[in-house]
Amino acid sequence: MGADVGEDQRAQELYERLKAYEGKAAAAGCEGKDVVNEPMIRHWCEAMGDTSPAYPTIAPPTMLQAWTMGGLSGHAGRTDAYDALLGLLDDAGFTSVVATDCEQEYLRPLRPGDRITFDAVIESVSAQKTTKLGTGHFVTTRMDVRADGELAGTHRFRILKYAPVQRKPKARRPRPVINRDTRGFWEGVSRHELLIQKCTGCGTLRFPWLPGCNSCGSPAWETVEAVGDGTVYSYVVMHHPPFPAFAEPDPATGSPRPYAVGLIELSEGVRMISNITGVPPAAIRIGMPVELEFLSADDELTLPVFRARHAVPQEDAV
Ligand code: ZN
Repeated sequence: MGADVGEDQRAQELYERLKAYEGKAAAAGCEGKDVVNEPMIRHWCEAMGDTSPAYPTIAPPTMLQAWTMGGLSGHAGRTDAYDALLGLLDDAGFTSVVATDCEQEYLRPLRPGDRITFDAVIESVSAQKTTKLGTGHFVTTRMDVRADGELAGTHRFRILKYAPVQRKPKARRPRPVINRDTRGFWEGVSRHELLIQKCTGCGTLRFPWLPGCNSCGSPAWETVEAVGDGTVYSYVVMHHPPFPAFAEPDPATGSPRPYAVGLIELSEGVRMISNITGVPPAAIRIGMPVELEFLSADDELTLPVFRARHAVPQEDAV
């Protein structure tokens, strides 16, 4: 468990470095861009639907932060200490940020004409915590808001700086492209029917689906359902690059299993590309009989694949 001890020690060392920022200024000597004023109070009350007759003689207490906001042009006054603290967290891999909560205390009402000044202090940095979002540290800053120099309220703001949980999405097969030329084929597959197009002009079967006949040029067609018998006309065995969606890793080695992609000649005479299943790829042979089956790849995707009709003797395997 040496690695865990090392990790615990690194976490502890980081926490001590983060704690050293507690009590340091996050912003100093800041001034509100506007004095407390009736138009801003009126806009706020309209936006919030607050019709209290107390306003705008005084400002709604929950407007406290509004008087400190820098707007698009931002605020001067943010300290190097706050940036350095966030930089330490970034460097430790806690690169994501989410605001978690804020708390306000109101000491006296703000009135039109009050001149706002404020400072902010890094109040606390938590030990490393693991949340549903990921592992990281909570950082709480406290802003002291003054009106004409007198403390009028405080605004505590807490963020979580964290390393997001790496969610490994389950590998899914790419979706087929379904358009007006191929929709009928995929609708057939969803009913477990493998449909081949048949030209109604000259009777030629065709696969894959096309808007017109290559033999006579007719755009008119109907379909016939394949009976599901076929043989391996040609094949490749895919080793690299590995695609987990196409073949689960070997549980013994963790490395991806090779899988077979075959060109299957259907008994109707057309050929289609698909997977060959039910046989180790090394045992696949040209001419091997296969039969159609429908693979439920995931909740949304069914695919026609071809299973070897009978087991291949082991000594025949490469
Ligand atoms: Zn034709």
